[in-house]
Amino acid sequence: MMKIARYLGQDGEILEGVVEGDELQEISGLDPMLHGGRRVGGKKKLAEVQLLPWGLSRKIVAIGKNYLDHAKEMASEAPKQPLIFMKPTSALVGHGQAIVLPPEGLAKEVHHEAELAVVIGRRLRRASEADCVKAIAGVTCLNDVTARDVQKADGQWTRAKGFDTFCPVGPWVAVGLDWSDLRIQARVNGMARQDGRSKDQIFPLPKLLAFITAGMTLEPGDLISTGTPAGVGPLRAGDTVEIEVEGVGVLRNEVRAE
Ligand code: ZN
Repeated sequence: MMKIARYLGQDGEILEGVVEGDELQEISGLDPMLHGGRRVGGKKKLAEVQLLPWGLSRKIVAIGKNYLDHAKEMASEAPKQPLIFMKPTSALVGHGQAIVLPPEGLAKEVHHEAELAVVIGRRLRRASEADCVKAIAGVTCLNDVTARDVQKADGQWTRAKGFDTFCPVGPWVAVGLDWSDLRIQARVNGMARQDGRSKDQIFPLPKLLAFITAGMTLEPGDLISTGTPAGVGPLRAGDTVEIEVEGVGVLRNEVRAE
């Protein structure tokens, strides 16, 4: 298993590197499946670089109510088929960047949603489950931040889930990790809020991907977020929220007022 981070270079360029302990080694020429590539330059301390989210300039497809316990806490039924929505790429932030709460007049109840997300490495159109699985480049942590009051008021989810900074992703992508039964957790200020496992998804990843590609082409770099387990709850200015996916790492973001 390899961990590949995307980060900001000294001249503002976007670089990719292999994470090894607390260090990062730049890598050049990775293919879209995040294979190949060669090591270039010296090592850097992870703590000294600005990590970037995956999915820059690509689309983010997410899944609603994909865990029975979360559907129940939302007082809704399990969906009969996957419930798909999208988040704009303008909402992306990386590990260590702030989640900025909109002014009170726009949103009053902002929630965290801990999710396992995958990065697509090959173009997929009307693909079989088996081909979809082969096109997964890697796995990462995603916080599907949601203005719950706006979601309820609007009747659809674009505005509620699309505010700037409402899509933290990272800290990096794990390549070669078995995603079928991973623990997914959220903590706020160190206190446990969500604790689930990917095996409890109503629609497992192969089914989700095949369903999405039946209607929409997926391209290398696209992010697919697979839904959240029970325990979603409010974020307030000054909070630190952590999303941990077993085998990947911890995505940490502070919350602040605009
Ligand atoms: Zn979600």
